[in-house]
Amino acid sequence: MYKLKKNLDDFSYKKIDLKSSRVLIRSCLNVVVDEEGRMTDLTRFYESLPLIKEAFFGAKSTVVMAHLGRPEERSKALSFWHIREVLEDELKSVDSSVKVELIEEINEESIRKVNEADGKTLFLLDNIRFFDGEESKDKAKRTEFATTLAKLGDVFINDAFADYREAASTYEIAEILPAFLGPVFLREVQAITKLSGAEKPFVAVVGGAKLTEKLDALNALYEEADKVLVGGAMAYTLLMAKGVTVGKSLIEENKIDVAKEIVAKFGDKLILPIDHRVADKFDKNEELFVVDDVNIPDGKVALDIGPKTEELFDTEIKKAATILWNGPLGLFEWEQSAGGTIRIGREVNESKAVYKVAGGGDTIAAINKFELEGFSHVSTGGGALLSLIAYDKFPTLDVIISKQ
Ligand code: AMP
Repeated sequence: MYKLKKNLDDFSYKKIDLKSSRVLIRSCLNVVVDEEGRMTDLTRFYESLPLIKEAFFGAKSTVVMAHLGRPEERSKALSFWHIREVLEDELKSVDSSVKVELIEEINEESIRKVNEADGKTLFLLDNIRFFDGEESKDKAKRTEFATTLAKLGDVFINDAFADYREAASTYEIAEILPAFLGPVFLREVQAITKLSGAEKPFVAVVGGAKLTEKLDALNALYEEADKVLVGGAMAYTLLMAKGVTVGKSLIEENKIDVAKEIVAKFGDKLILPIDHRVADKFDKNEELFVVDDVNIPDGKVALDIGPKTEELFDTEIKKAATILWNGPLGLFEWEQSAGGTIRIGREVNESKAVYKVAGGGDTIAAINKFELEGFSHVSTGGGALLSLIAYDKFPTLDVIISKQ
C-alpha cells in the first residue's frame, strides 16, 4: 500500500501565487456521454469544477486539459464541445462576461491567444487523446508533446487522480513545469493512504467480476487488513481453487493457480461465500434460488451471495474499526441479484467503524443506486484506488513530490 513520504500540503495548488501565474490544469473529465458527445452523467465534471473556477477567477490565464474515452481518431462524440458549453454556463453564472474557448490545435495562434488572455476567456483543450504524443509508448515523444503543452502555462496542477497512467499531460508535463496537486487529487490520496496504519480491526470487502484486476491489491491487503471478505464472481475462482464446485458461474480458468496461492497464503484471513443465490441460466429474467451449501450444483450460475454469507460478512463488518469496500457482491445491476450488495452496503453504512472508504466505478454506481451514505471517503478512482492500495508507487504523484 502506498505510504506517504512527504506532507502533501507542501505540494498543494494553494502554494501557487495565482495572480501572477498562467495555470495549466489536468482535470478528470472522463464523463459518460451519449453518441453525440453530450454528457449524461456529470459527476466527474462537477468534481473537477471547483479548481477550474478557483484558477480561472484568480489566475492570469487558465488552460484546462483532460481526456474522454479512448478515441482512435477525432470524433464529435469524444470532443469537448458539450463540456465547453456546460463549463461556460457554469462560469457565466459567476460573471456573465466570460467565455470558454475550445482549443483544437496547439499552434502559434492558440499559444499567442493564451499568452494574451485578458482573464475573460478560459481555454479548454479538446480531448487530450486526440493529440499525437499524449499516450505514445515512446517517452521521447511524450516529452516532446509535453514540451508543446508547457507553452500554455507556467505552472501545472494535476487534479486528475483517476487518470493515473503515465501520459504526457499527467506525467511528462510535471517533469517540465513547476507542478502541484489539485484538491481532488489531494483529497483522494490523503483519504486512501490513511487506510495504512488505520485503527484495527481493518476489514476489506472486495467484490466484482475479475480477480485478475484485483490480485495485486488483494496481496497488499494481506499485509494491512485483518479480514478480507470476497464476494462477486471473483469469489468463485477462489472457491474453485479450494476444490469447491462452482457450476456454470463466471470464473477465470487461467487464474486458478494464483487463486490457489492466495487461498493458501491468506488462510483464515480470507472469508469466502458459504452459500449462494443461483439461477438456471445467465438471464435477467431468471428467478434466483438459494443454495444452502458452499458447493454450487452442476449447471447453476451463482449471481449473488446467499443469506448465510450475508450474516457471516455482517459479523465481521460489525467488528471492524476500519473498512474498505471495493466491488459489488453480486450482479447488482439486475434486481434479483442486487440483495447481497445492498445488504453489505447498508451494513458498512451502519457499522460503528471509525474509518470507512469505498470506491470504484461499480461500487459508486451501487452507492448511488441504493442511496448508501455514511462513508468517510468515496473514491472515484477505480483503477487508481486499487493501484494506491496495491503498490508503493504512484507515478503521477511521485513525479510531483520528488521534485522539491
Ligand atoms: P469488476 O469490474 O471486476 O469490479 O466487476 C464488476 C461487475 O461484476 C459488475 O458489473 C457486477 O455486476 C459483476 N458481477 C458481480 N458478481 C457477479 C456474478 N456473481 N456473476 C456475474 N457478474 C457479477
